[in-house]
Amino acid sequence: MRVLVVEDDRLLGDGLVAGLKALGNGVDWVRDGEAALVALEAESFAAVVLDLGLPRRDGLSVLRQMRARSDATPVLVLTARDEVSAKVEALDLGADDYVLKPFDLDEIAARLRALVRRSRGRPVPMLRHGELMLNPATREVRVGDEPLALTSREFDLLSLLLEGKGRVQTRRTLEEQLYAWGESIGSNALEVHVHHLRRKIGGEMIRTVRGVGYMMMDDESAQA
Ligand code: CA
Repeated sequence: MRVLVVEDDRLLGDGLVAGLKALGNGVDWVRDGEAALVALEAESFAAVVLDLGLPRRDGLSVLRQMRARSDATPVLVLTARDEVSAKVEALDLGADDYVLKPFDLDEIAARLRALVRRSRGRPVPMLRHGELMLNPATREVRVGDEPLALTSREFDLLSLLLEGKGRVQTRRTLEEQLYAWGESIGSNALEVHVHHLRRKIGGEMIRTVRGVGYMMMDDESAQA
């Protein structure tokens, strides 16, 4: 999934970004509050990791502004141990969860997955489509009992399509969520990933909506 990290500390940010990327996430990193708001307006993210002490605009103000403009992107706040009142305020302002510094990367990753899952109204962590089963936590995909080998991009694309099952997702939305800034997107990269995915999971599940994007069929219509 695509995550925005808002952290001004270079060392912490480096570790966080590298760690989240290694776990298969697309990560964008900004270092001040204003840049965070600009990024959130321009792009869609599955979640935000938000430091509170930030230059130009602090984390609480970013959060307040996000919620004021009805941006419901899930937010995981990073707080220091002595920032108890800020933590409470952040939760009151609409933060979804918090982690104390110094943090454990696995804990952050697990909390992010949980809050993205909740935000999408999905209490069960597995994504399913007929025999196909995708586990976001372990990044495993199975068809029945058979494990299916997907590239990282194919996995992310399949997650997005399964999450939006039954509705059309535009090329732009899919590309925004698959690629971080600065990554070059070949003009037909999305088609190529869809093509490979279809070969692996079966061509009938993903419908092309000409000139718009793609749609994962509902289980019933896929079987029809
Ligand atoms: Ca800071």
